[in-house]
Amino acid sequence: MYSGGGSRGYTGYTDKNVLNHYLTLDLPDDHIMCEYIWIDGTGEGIRSKCKTLDFEPTSLDDYPIWNYDGSSTYQAEGSNSDMYLHPCAIFSDPFRRGKNKLVLCDVYKYNKEPADSNKRKSCAKVMEAAKDSHPWFGIEQEYTLLDFDGYPFGWPKNGFPGPQGPYYCGVGATRVYGRDIVEAHYRASLHAGVKIAGCNAEVMPGQWEYQVGPCEGISIGDHLWVSRYLLHRVAEDFGITATLDPKPVQGDWNGAGAHCNFSTSAMREKGGLKHIETAIEKLSKHHSKHIHAYDPHEGKDNERRLTGLHETSDIHDFSAGIANRGASIRIPRQVAEIGYGYLEDRRPSSNCDPYSVAEVIVQTTVLDE
Ligand code: ADP
Ligand code: MN
Ligand code: MN
Ligand code: MN
Repeated sequence: MYSGGGSRGYTGYTDKNVLNHYLTLDLPDDHIMCEYIWIDGTGEGIRSKCKTLDFEPTSLDDYPIWNYDGSSTYQAEGSNSDMYLHPCAIFSDPFRRGKNKLVLCDVYKYNKEPADSNKRKSCAKVMEAAKDSHPWFGIEQEYTLLDFDGYPFGWPKNGFPGPQGPYYCGVGATRVYGRDIVEAHYRASLHAGVKIAGCNAEVMPGQWEYQVGPCEGISIGDHLWVSRYLLHRVAEDFGITATLDPKPVQGDWNGAGAHCNFSTSAMREKGGLKHIETAIEKLSKHHSKHIHAYDPHEGKDNERRLTGLHETSDIHDFSAGIANRGASIRIPRQVAEIGYGYLEDRRPSSNCDPYSVAEVIVQTTVLDE
């Protein structure tokens, strides 16, 4: 028996047993369903729509450019509303399975210029310029599960859970809420071909993290955006939502970030620590530029999160330290001990655009821009 949102009074609930009949229908062998995915005008919302192809594509160029109504996605005026979807990364579809695909697209306006929300184009250019240094990224995506009423999933409806302490990496029904979603999302990500690296329950109950990476260059953005699409879709199946808001609950509750772990080939080799230290020195000179790029509202979202409390640094200060989780940049202890590896930029907000984050890190540390 399906025990998702329906049993909790979620009004959008439909009976998955009825759906099962249609999921087992025979379909034409030579037709595939392609779910085109893109980022809307908010810079954080994800949209998608489906297209049948009557052939099986073998390369990215085989996927047709498509379009949609930008006036309904905060992206265009109604009188000139066609926006173009350019396929840029292909993943397997864990919902439909088989040959069906997820087609991540970037968005272009009627005049063929990238849409304002298209941060991929400029990121790709920067990654191309820096490709000889082989930049790797690993992003820790924190998020919070919300019940259909907008309240954190699993929290008592008339109060608060006990104070933070037992929940991080917690085990047990009074410690973690929503593990089904986490497990389903992990498996869906692996099926899709997303480079998911791990997951854990977070400090605030109902808050979780998964990591994507290491991914080289532009692929970090592609994989992270598709992982987010999968998260929202999986949660939808359970009748709950996942929010990437960086501070979903005010008070003595941790916010959500998207720590960006970063290295170049020089940092990953013996003696790499001095390259990590040079990069941190460069980062220290561009703090506000980075804060601008680390959430979709030029620092406004992160203002609520980067308070200097709850394992964050103050938004106005740059700091760095070994194993310091209250710093802007942390050198993991193991990296300091063995003398090479990567650095962790703890500033990006959970709702950041990973293309913007990766772009500015490479500009500052590799291209000296
Ligand atoms: P934390 O200790 O901060 O919780 P996690 O284990 O959650 O760290 O995440 C570490 C991330 O760093 C993972 O996404 C991993 O893929 C990534 N990572 C590991 N090595 C490198 C590297 N050399 N360069 C960039 N990212 C890396
Ligand atoms: Mn982590
Ligand atoms: Mn975390
Ligand atoms: Mn971290």
